[in-house]
Amino acid sequence: MPMIPYFATEKSKKIGLSLKNYLNEYIIPKETEWLAMPFIKVEKLLRSRKKDMQEIGAWNLYLSSDHGGPGLTLMEIAQISEIMGRTPFGHFLCNCQAPDAGNVELLLKYGSPKIVDTYLKPMLEGKIRSCFGMTEPHLAGSNPVRMDTKAKISDQEIFVSGHKWFTSGADGASFCIVMAVTDPDNPNPYRKASMVILPTDNPGYKLIRNISVMGHPGDGYLSHGEVKFENARVPLNHLLGERGKGFVMAQERLGPGRIHHCMRWIGIASRCFDMMCKRAVSREYSPGVVLGDKQMVQKMIAESKAEIDAARLSVLHAAYIMENFGQKAARQEISAIKFFTANVLQNVIDRAIQIHGALGVTDDSILAWYYREERGARIYDGTDETHQSSLARQILKKFRS
Ligand SMILES: Cc1cc2nc3c(=O)[nH]c(=O)nc-3n(C[C@H](O)[C@H](O)[C@H](O)COP(=O)(O)OP(=O)(O)OC[C@H]3O[C@@H](n4cnc5c(N)ncnc54)[C@H](O)[C@@H]3O)c2cc1C
Repeated sequence: MPMIPYFATEKSKKIGLSLKNYLNEYIIPKETEWLAMPFIKVEKLLRSRKKDMQEIGAWNLYLSSDHGGPGLTLMEIAQISEIMGRTPFGHFLCNCQAPDAGNVELLLKYGSPKIVDTYLKPMLEGKIRSCFGMTEPHLAGSNPVRMDTKAKISDQEIFVSGHKWFTSGADGASFCIVMAVTDPDNPNPYRKASMVILPTDNPGYKLIRNISVMGHPGDGYLSHGEVKFENARVPLNHLLGERGKGFVMAQERLGPGRIHHCMRWIGIASRCFDMMCKRAVSREYSPGVVLGDKQMVQKMIAESKAEIDAARLSVLHAAYIMENFGQKAARQEISAIKFFTANVLQNVIDRAIQIHGALGVTDDSILAWYYREERGARIYDGTDETHQSSLARQILKKFRS
């Protein structure tokens, strides 16, 4: 069980164990077959198991019972997120996948009753998906205040024009939460943009392509879209939250989102770790000698174990601070876990591939899929370097005063 017993509660242990057993019995054995299928078909298979998830309390795990979830604390969610992360289908199965989870939290906080009925309720039921469009191909995403997408707000409508890419899951999404400049003259660069809900069946919304990532364009939820908005018109109530507050809202969304991502990555890393250990004790090098008898293989295993444990404790520490003292108090810890855990993930996947030899780079094991799909972890939700630089600046501030 990946959960650390003295951090687990009765509730998280019960849900975590039931979910782990379910994944081992029904989902992990299907992975190879499902990863070779278009996701659009897999989505139906996963959704058909919604009742099972509701029965074990693993549906909408990050939400209160009013919204169909079990009402867990952030620490509890974090630990179950590791269990969901042990398969690429875990989060989707539990209706906890990014970017929907973050978008749901935005709609819950800022959606008007009409928006809640049209977009939030079907999301909570797992009937529709969404995407989040912020990054633009021609501008450095690490400096998001530079943005060309515009939303003109008239008395009755909003007109959105712009070009985004890496809009994850755009293919098949019902709507996109678009970050767009609404107040170009505001002297504060963080008060120029707003969030606008744009339905994807709007005549002004175009999905240009699913961007091919390392040879795989993917489809449906497992894809990253390039999208264009050409004077797309939506009613005024599609402005989400206060005008000019887009960046503040994006920050609110990213805090808990980074805890979820990091714990999902730890789930992946611990799965790859188990695979490397199994391979190390079963692959015979010479009669009576297995790979795990070689010291350099042992080194890879020892380093992976230490890194995974360090990352897990750091993420739970960040979750604890966030939960008990607020997101602002956890700023340094969040930056630290974001780049540290993403690198642990990458190291562990890479070592697992190395220990599997040629098999590791084939699609006969899940390692190659993880290698391709998870490289982006060091880039999205803030690149390694932006988090490192932000963390160092925060630390140095204290030493300068
Ligand atoms: C798998 C994946 C999924 C994504 N999903 C979404 C999504 O759903 N919606 C969305 O809007 N965007 C999404 N993105 C985009 C992501 O947010 C951006 O890629 C990210 O913000 C970095 O922007 P960029 O790619 O333009 O890189 P750039 O900003 O051009 O940076 C390139 C490199 O420059 C270096 N660098 C940048 N800033 C600094 C600095 N301050 N100090 C030192 N070095 C620096 C870093 O090495 C960085 O990797 C996704 C990206 C990936 C890979």
